Amino acid sequence: MTIDKLLIANRGEIALRIHRAAHEMGIKTVAVHSTADADAMHVRLADEAICIGPPSAKDSYLNVPAIISAAEISGADAIHPGYGFLSENARFAEIIEEHKLIFVGPKPEHIRTMGDKVMAKKTAGALGLPLVPGSDGAIDDVEEAKRIARGVGYPVIIKAASGGGGRGMKVVSNEEELETQMQQAGTEAKAAFGDATVYLEKYLGNPRHIEFQVFGDGNGNAIHLGERDCSLQRRHQKVLEEAPSPVITAEERARMGGIVAKAMADMGYRGAGTIEFLWENGEFYFIEMNTRIQVEHPVTEMITGFDLVREQIRVAEGKPLSVKQEDLEFRGHSIECRINAEDPRTFAPSPGTIKAYHPAGGMHVRVDSGLYAGYKIPPYYDSMIAKLIVYGRTRESCMMRMRRALEEMVVDGVKTNIPLHQDLLAQPDVIDGNYSIKWLEEWLAAEEAKG
Ligand code: ADP
Repeated sequence: MTIDKLLIANRGEIALRIHRAAHEMGIKTVAVHSTADADAMHVRLADEAICIGPPSAKDSYLNVPAIISAAEISGADAIHPGYGFLSENARFAEIIEEHKLIFVGPKPEHIRTMGDKVMAKKTAGALGLPLVPGSDGAIDDVEEAKRIARGVGYPVIIKAASGGGGRGMKVVSNEEELETQMQQAGTEAKAAFGDATVYLEKYLGNPRHIEFQVFGDGNGNAIHLGERDCSLQRRHQKVLEEAPSPVITAEERARMGGIVAKAMADMGYRGAGTIEFLWENGEFYFIEMNTRIQVEHPVTEMITGFDLVREQIRVAEGKPLSVKQEDLEFRGHSIECRINAEDPRTFAPSPGTIKAYHPAGGMHVRVDSGLYAGYKIPPYYDSMIAKLIVYGRTRESCMMRMRRALEEMVVDGVKTNIPLHQDLLAQPDVIDGNYSIKWLEEWLAAEEAKG
């Protein structure tokens, strides 16, 4: 199978990222867009562009019939979903395949399994990944829940099987609370996700978020590309990511990487994936798997020199993995700052027209963004407008370069969180790599209190 024309079912920087990989492979691209994105960079750069609906995502970027029609009209032979939108919709992947088109992504059954948290945890456990101690699958009996909670120790967290995006979780610190919260969690999960299934886990007090990038060929071969530390989060949204993690040694990377790669090989996983763990006191605990390319993938590319999107397209064409595990080297350090159009203190979105734009440049600096002067950021979508990614031989030189790049970057006309990133990179804890998933919110609260 070869792909001659690729439809990109996404917008913003990831649509550009995919377009760039495709053009470097001699593949033509088709952009799809809502009416609000007619002037967007992903539309301008693509070989063809098709409007698929009004601004609201549910009528455009989530509109499956419109996207399939666009592929048929343009004669595309493959669809890349990017991240977000339809990227983890197993039915979308199946429909693409039913239309004899290539889905640039995992097998639909793997998307489905990993999209259900209870199934994902069961599968991960069976594949030998370390789990957060807790209920063995779904739980609806309060006495049973109490027994498990006593076993793992309080606090515990009740999670909705169909939850996502940091929603559908309740932390419970004793038996009385567990009794009332169990009932409520089920009712709330049913209302929010249409599924009352909940399960129980030990609540980790102060973990880091460390995730492994994996890649499979779909035929039982798989590799890992090391880890990313994404502990700096606000409301479960990642703000700054780095690779490698400041707390993981080369031996630990090789050991854990070996475990996740073997799991993916055994599963017959196809394409790019990320296995997310909480990490505390030297132990990894699986929380979920994302069956798609991720926002923070460039930090992995910077330290490995390996093009993840190109590989996604190659594997979708049925080609074998282009590297062997032993040929992959992890070199230096990389940091990504997510630049959002938002107030750096209140985090209120700040859409509007870009008056002046100057991306940072220079050695080892990469900006993934669809911005240009005169571009009007629409209010309908995610507030992330650019990713600033830098590389350095050491973590220290990487941070110096990031400070320099943030200083250079000009985005006029809207508010951005560039000042927040500058503040972050001046904090001793961040400089020392001494932070957990709680750190950023605690620091923001302390800053707020100072006024
Ligand atoms: P979602 O799909 O909603 O993102 P996750 O299972 O990935 O749900 O969890 C989201 C976040 O919730 C984690 O990054 C972590 O901050 C917190 N969390 C989840 N499980 C636990 C746990 N057992 N202990 C402590 N924090 C947790």
